[in-house]
Amino acid sequence: MDVTRDIAATRRALAIPRARGDRIGLVPTMGALHAGHIELLATACQACDFSVATIFVNPTQFAADEDLAAYPRTPEQDYDVCRAAGIDLVFQPTAAEMYRPDASTTVTVAGLDRHLCGPHRPGHFVGVATVVAKLFQIVQPDAAYFGRKDYQQLAIIRRMVRDLDMPVDVVGCPTVREADGLALSSRNVYLSDEHRRQAAVIPAALRAVAERIAAGQTGVPDLTTLLADTLRSRGPLEIDYASIVDPDTLQPLETVAGPVVVAAAVRIGQTRLIDNLEVDPPATGD
Ligand code: AMP
Repeated sequence: MDVTRDIAATRRALAIPRARGDRIGLVPTMGALHAGHIELLATACQACDFSVATIFVNPTQFAADEDLAAYPRTPEQDYDVCRAAGIDLVFQPTAAEMYRPDASTTVTVAGLDRHLCGPHRPGHFVGVATVVAKLFQIVQPDAAYFGRKDYQQLAIIRRMVRDLDMPVDVVGCPTVREADGLALSSRNVYLSDEHRRQAAVIPAALRAVAERIAAGQTGVPDLTTLLADTLRSRGPLEIDYASIVDPDTLQPLETVAGPVVVAAAVRIGQTRLIDNLEVDPPATGD
């Protein structure tokens, strides 16, 4: 497995597999790799002939008051994880390699960033879409792998690829969870033992709502009340949002009339955690 740090070397390393006609897979990450990332890496390696993981804590997707400096960084472990998964190349650039000081081009996926995390993280999705567009340009993958845990991110990348005619298959991979249901996240290491126990309320609350929807409940106001009340049932936390949204537009719904995404973002102590469940209502039979 090669590790490259600059764009030119990455392009050189990819020239050979590309000339061979290999199917090239890309897994963008911010490192601190866990079993959720491994799901993406393994899926890419299975489906592609040559698989690239990127490790880049992208500064442009962090607001000034967010955890850029504190974000966990475990490069040696990450190389081992990538190697074990079968990754062929790790691209781990510096911020200076990725962004010229006078860089003035960004990618805005308008509309989809008005909902869910968008209002709570101004500029975040412009940072995400821009860095993913750059990684697509650098690696030119045939397929790129993203987690469904970051549902809004996946929706935004899909829309960007569609609107800008990028020749990349975007593959959404299932959310990997701990035994108690908590979605794996690099940020889980910030949680104290007590907060870690409390955090299991997030998947429990999403599941409670999913069960009501599966049982035929359609009124979103009552369902979102249940979601928020359940989130608060195991101790104090701050809810950024607790929403039921359309899977394509991410707009909040009034009633459940088809597939929905039940999504929440909460702050437990200093740690912001997000999760979602994609839910189908029962077939009506008509
Ligand atoms: P990150 O390193 O947090 O930027 O995540 C890199 C990729 O891994 C993104 O596509 C995430 O959606 C995905 N990912 C993170 N956590 C999980 C998880 N628990 N299950 C599945 N995919 C995940």
